[in-house]
Amino acid sequence: MSTNDSVSTIDRVSSNDSVSTIDDPALSTPTPIATLADRIHLLGMQAERAGADAVLIGPGADLRYFLGHSVSSHERLTCLTVTPDGTPRLLVPKLERPGWSGTPVEELGFDIVTWRDGEDPHAALAALLPDRARTFAVDDYLPAAHVLGIRRAVTGSELTLAGEAIAELRMRKDQAEVAALAAVGAAIDRVHARMGEFLRAGRTEHRATTDIAAALVQEGHAAAEFVIVGSGPNGASPHHEASDRVIGVGDPVVIDIGGVSPAGYFSDCTRTYSVGRPTDPEFETVYETVRRAQAAGVAAATAGTAGEAVDTASRTVIDEAGYGDAFITRTGHGIGLEVHEHPYLVAGNTAVLEPGMAFSVEPGIYLAGRFGVRIEDIVVVDQDGRPQQLNHADTSLVILDSGTI
Ligand code: ZN
Ligand code: ZN
Ligand code: ZN
Repeated sequence: MSTNDSVSTIDRVSSNDSVSTIDDPALSTPTPIATLADRIHLLGMQAERAGADAVLIGPGADLRYFLGHSVSSHERLTCLTVTPDGTPRLLVPKLERPGWSGTPVEELGFDIVTWRDGEDPHAALAALLPDRARTFAVDDYLPAAHVLGIRRAVTGSELTLAGEAIAELRMRKDQAEVAALAAVGAAIDRVHARMGEFLRAGRTEHRATTDIAAALVQEGHAAAEFVIVGSGPNGASPHHEASDRVIGVGDPVVIDIGGVSPAGYFSDCTRTYSVGRPTDPEFETVYETVRRAQAAGVAAATAGTAGEAVDTASRTVIDEAGYGDAFITRTGHGIGLEVHEHPYLVAGNTAVLEPGMAFSVEPGIYLAGRFGVRIEDIVVVDQDGRPQQLNHADTSLVILDSGTI
């Protein structure tokens, strides 16, 4: 995926539909309790530094990062509070308390407080917080209804965003997280290696999407998150998902796919294929340009390099080939418990890369009305400060047998 919008979802394929036969422990290893406790402690320090009396985190990737578990967000308030001394408390709807049994929260050994329907959840939250607490840093995705409810419940309260402070922790992956990303990266590589099974002339994009989504699960994902099949002119729209367009002989097809591992980490990898020999005379020139741009971006992604400099490294190759106006996205995004997270490889991001940062490098050329080419791999900066690729599928042009349906 290449932009910062919410991730498109296909009809979700769950493990019930097709069963994975992959036995790689790194796909499902839970985060150790000691690691979660460290993260919560560090979050308290971030709160102190930011001058917040508490950090408030609702359901989502942030909650999962700190508690090793999350729930889906809805109108009932679920909220983790962490004060600067590192004390966590969790407020949950009483009817959902059983769902937290057996999760790491119980082993972490802190208070889980419940509120029940008919009570004011924001007053219940206020009662959990220190008496004089007024400044709250809230996670970026806490629903506005709760943000305003908390403001009403605590007189004189002031709310700020905690997203950047939390990103400071989340964007530096530890060894176990890198192993989790490598395992799910290998899973998506296995799907790309099978693309000839799915991508055939005469099939619709939708049909290919369904098969690819099933393959994601077969190869070890808990669920497919997005399957972009952009054939011919549809490839020129970076976030085109799939349509009833029939894939033709000679079509370039952008395949951008990703899913979540049982442990909660995401894959995201793009290859552009040609179904049969490409018919557009310019396709191979464009393909090689993107391929060189992507390699240049990967090579530039060393510790100490600004995020925007990686973008420049890819962009320069495309500019010099004369396709600058057709490279309409940023070069990459961080990845982890979310498909899109910090750091972003985009003009204006002067923050430098550090060991443990993981992100996509995915330049593209999008020629409206004709075709698109994108090549995307996930890269992590290793402990020596070098870029290490977590996807290993060759980037040379793969011409698939145009085959039959
Ligand atoms: Zn995207
Ligand atoms: Zn992608
Ligand atoms: Zn991406």
